[in-house]
Amino acid sequence: MKKVVFFKDIKKFSEALEYFDIDSFEGRQIPLKLHMGEKKNKYFLKPDFVKQIIDELKKRKIEPYLFDTTVAYPGLRNSKTGYKKLAEIHGFSKLGCDIIIDDTGIKTEIEEHVYEVATHIAESTHIFALSHVKGHIATGMGGAIKNFGMGGVTKETKRKMHHGSRPIFNQEKCTYCGECSEVCFFNAISVNGNNWDLDMDSCFGCGVCVNNCNYDALKHKDLDFQKTLVYAAKACVQNKNVLYFNDVNRIAKSCDCHPYAGPIIAPDIGYLLSDDPVAIDKASLDLIYEQKKDVFEKENKISPFKQIKYGEEVGLGSSSYKLIKF
Ligand code: SF4
Ligand code: SF4
Repeated sequence: MKKVVFFKDIKKFSEALEYFDIDSFEGRQIPLKLHMGEKKNKYFLKPDFVKQIIDELKKRKIEPYLFDTTVAYPGLRNSKTGYKKLAEIHGFSKLGCDIIIDDTGIKTEIEEHVYEVATHIAESTHIFALSHVKGHIATGMGGAIKNFGMGGVTKETKRKMHHGSRPIFNQEKCTYCGECSEVCFFNAISVNGNNWDLDMDSCFGCGVCVNNCNYDALKHKDLDFQKTLVYAAKACVQNKNVLYFNDVNRIAKSCDCHPYAGPIIAPDIGYLLSDDPVAIDKASLDLIYEQKKDVFEKENKISPFKQIKYGEEVGLGSSSYKLIKF
């Protein structure tokens, strides 16, 4: 059973670290893997908060640098220089750490699928992952698994993962009930009478339509989005020492990549720390659901527990955990 430490006051962070093998990080330069915010998003981890994490790591003779990867969609975060500029605008350049944005990767195969893991992640033995837990339109919830599964790979791989989750339509099974069209946040599907149509330019490749078709009339082109996410996360973190910190507060409907991430949908929970990405995300979900049952299914029409199940199946981590509260 994996350990997950839960605390509500960030001042307890130092104490929480003692439950894990933090000594093995000493004397190393390590990536602090985090999302430094989309333009206009209100909920991403703020520099003043991140500074408290950095200060504690530095006290322990660990040298973190702020790290993330470029994204596949247009905007400042699409390029290394653009993302660095946005990180500076958001105040991350004042933390006394280098900011490194990766755009290159090293091919890694998981379950016969190839992922380009960001070079700095692939070449690190020790990583500290700082994840903001919130809703997500394609995965229900995004936490530690998603921080690597999408955030740890190159934009070419990100694009490929989304394309592989697009729907393939089976006319013979379709009842033209319209459910897929209802649940598509991107209005990519239209169902009129006995006519089903997909607008490829609008399709984001989230796979939510496939997961909501009750007649087996839709299949993923390649893989369920949450499955490919889990495989990509495994490609990033396998055989490494990774500590995962989840900030389970400001739980919005949508993710930090979204300029308008929607309303807050659950109360603030606190902070979690673990050395297992599946355990920490499962514990985060359980704590949120104690307060607001099935909130992500209700808001985003998809169960985030799929990533937990796939994560366990592929050996990314364990869903059994012992919660240590203080
Ligand atoms: S949800 Fe399935 S059965 Fe209903 S219209 Fe869409 S593809 Fe057809
Ligand atoms: S994969 Fe997502 S964006 Fe594409 S049609 Fe289905 S629900 Fe819409």
